[in-house]
Amino acid sequence: MTLIIVESPTKARTISRILGAGYTVIASYGHIMDLPDSKRGTSIKKTKTKKSKVKQKEANPDLDLKLGINTKTYEPIYVVSEKGKKIVADIKRLSALEKEVLIATDPDREGESIASHIAEVVNAPEKIKRVTFHEITPSEIKSQIAHATSVNQNLVEAQKARRVLDRLVGYKVSPLLWRKFFMGLSAGRVQSVALKAVVEREEEIKKFVPVTWFQVFAQVKDIIFEYIQKDKNLATLKTVEDAKSLISKLRGKSLVVDSIVETTGSRSAPTPFTTSTLQQTASARLGYAPKRTMSLAQQLLEAGYITYHRTDSVNLSEGFVAQAATYITQTYGPSYLEKRVYKTKSKNAQEAHEAIRPTNLNPEAASQMNPDAMRLYQLVFARTVGSQMSDAQVNKVVVVAPVKDMPDISFRADFQSIAFPGFSKLYPTDIGETIQNPFKKGEILTPDKLESKLTSTKPPARYSEATLIKFLEEQGIGRPSTYASILATIVERKYVEIVEKRLHPTDTGVIVTGYLSEKFAEIMNYQFTADLEQKLDDISTGERKFIDVMREFDEPFEKILKANMADTSKANTGAVVPDSKCPLCAKPMVEKLGRFGKFWSCIDYPTCKGIMRINKDGRTQDSVNAELNAKAVSKEFLAQYEPAPLTAEGKPYLLRKGRYGEFWAHPDYPAVKDAQPLRFTAELVLKMYGPAPLASDGKAMVLRSGKFGYFWAHPDYPKVRELQKATKLT
Ligand SMILES: [Zn+2]
Repeated sequence: MTLIIVESPTKARTISRILGAGYTVIASYGHIMDLPDSKRGTSIKKTKTKKSKVKQKEANPDLDLKLGINTKTYEPIYVVSEKGKKIVADIKRLSALEKEVLIATDPDREGESIASHIAEVVNAPEKIKRVTFHEITPSEIKSQIAHATSVNQNLVEAQKARRVLDRLVGYKVSPLLWRKFFMGLSAGRVQSVALKAVVEREEEIKKFVPVTWFQVFAQVKDIIFEYIQKDKNLATLKTVEDAKSLISKLRGKSLVVDSIVETTGSRSAPTPFTTSTLQQTASARLGYAPKRTMSLAQQLLEAGYITYHRTDSVNLSEGFVAQAATYITQTYGPSYLEKRVYKTKSKNAQEAHEAIRPTNLNPEAASQMNPDAMRLYQLVFARTVGSQMSDAQVNKVVVVAPVKDMPDISFRADFQSIAFPGFSKLYPTDIGETIQNPFKKGEILTPDKLESKLTSTKPPARYSEATLIKFLEEQGIGRPSTYASILATIVERKYVEIVEKRLHPTDTGVIVTGYLSEKFAEIMNYQFTADLEQKLDDISTGERKFIDVMREFDEPFEKILKANMADTSKANTGAVVPDSKCPLCAKPMVEKLGRFGKFWSCIDYPTCKGIMRINKDGRTQDSVNAELNAKAVSKEFLAQYEPAPLTAEGKPYLLRKGRYGEFWAHPDYPAVKDAQPLRFTAELVLKMYGPAPLASDGKAMVLRSGKFGYFWAHPDYPKVRELQKATKLT
């Protein structure tokens, strides 16, 4: 009998079904050992482990127990995790019963690291073999079992190096942040660099000054011609008057087709999917967040539909390429076939996986899966098979047509059509609308319509999760197994907020990044982080040694760290806020960072404990309220809304702004929790929605606003729940 150990229980069940009798398949549920867990600097729990650690410490004074690392050799002290205890017991018991133990954890460094921990637990080297399944199919499983090897120590070392580096940065830098700002903040080797990219983009957006100009369009036969001018700074149509005067000059004039330039270009199929391109494409085409994509891919892997989904390889096996060729020829015809070999940049030959591809050539294979997983499968299918198909041929046409008798004023139209679809037959491209050329040289055109449009240069877009992954990959930062978790970490730690799929840094994110970029400039550097990733790759191929990489990193790091530890000044005292006044002692205030973002604190803190809360725009609640108070009695406001309602004592309600917009708050709000909606004036309601309908008791209904817009309600709503749809008059 043979014991097989994999990571996930679903995978264990599938493999067990495939292999049948003679094999016991169990799951490790991920890592069974890790560095000692100690959140926020508290040390290892008082368990047996701790006692044995103390003994270890007596025997070896270089052990740093809190860190879980030997400070001389950098060897980590892995301990069995709480959740790993039962599994470790199972592995011990079951492996003692079997003749052979096959460790089939995931085929990457993390899987190799788990494999080495399992081997340690089994503690019978003669029994142990390592197998790597790149797909969960009968043929792959049987073939890999026939070619079992041993645990690859280089990969184990590379994973160990990543773990120790991340631990050194996390455990040594985070306490500095607590001292400088507040408890609970964390720094991370890669995470902080990814956050820096988000913060830098936000700064670019803030600094951006848009340039605006006007475009003029003429429409002929449903094709849009644009007036030719230099863009942006050199535009000839700077103002709306410029645009209007051009249009008036053009009224009644025709255009003469002067030149038609046709070119044919080809577009090649994109490469097969790696982890990062899968995450980016699934985000763009299916709207899946990277974490979701990875979880659906895991499901597809475990069900046997796709190959392993953590890979930076674009390789396809010869067997698959041959099958795909037959499929393409039979389905689309021989002219659609173009076998291609894709080379991977990454040089980790020992992790030479394939790209993420379907395990067989049936586009409907995953139709039993949930719809989201099925869509992801179909995307993988189209991308992979498409990568073996011929180029798409695209005809591009540029038509230039000056105005008749005004040769200085010229228009131009660009459009394209697909001459031969090639791969795009299966994997649609973003060519967009295709238009055949309807024009002839010398043809006189009479525009159906002339229009102008204000246009402006756009600031760089905020990163989405997908585009940040793209940026990190281009910089050489992060690896297939880490992208999704880097993103998840900066969001969970509240350094970044996702609003409409875009990443916005929080105050905390901006301030912590500013501090780290200043004090740990080298570690926060993109190139440095990329070089370190490369060194980890070199450990995985045996070209570098673990201890050398650790020393190269840690010695300069310790120096920077010591210098910063010596500086005990509070970083958490920002600039004095102009015109600020402490509510307690009237002295000036300074900006600080707290758990809930920025706030103002008395300059005499801790002697005086005066603080002021400020909102997202950096303003105090008092100044926002003062502005709202003025607005509530302004002419513009009262032309639109009824004045403030009054309390029973005749005191007016106050205009306030909440999450869902402006509302009337009781003057003693929030002590008295009474809020009322703003009401349009009777004249405005009449103009917008017509006369108020009458309720069943004859009372005139009033217009109220709700989550889904305006509606008519009984004047005693919500006590009397009588509602009617309000329809806006056009
Ligand atoms: Zn004060």
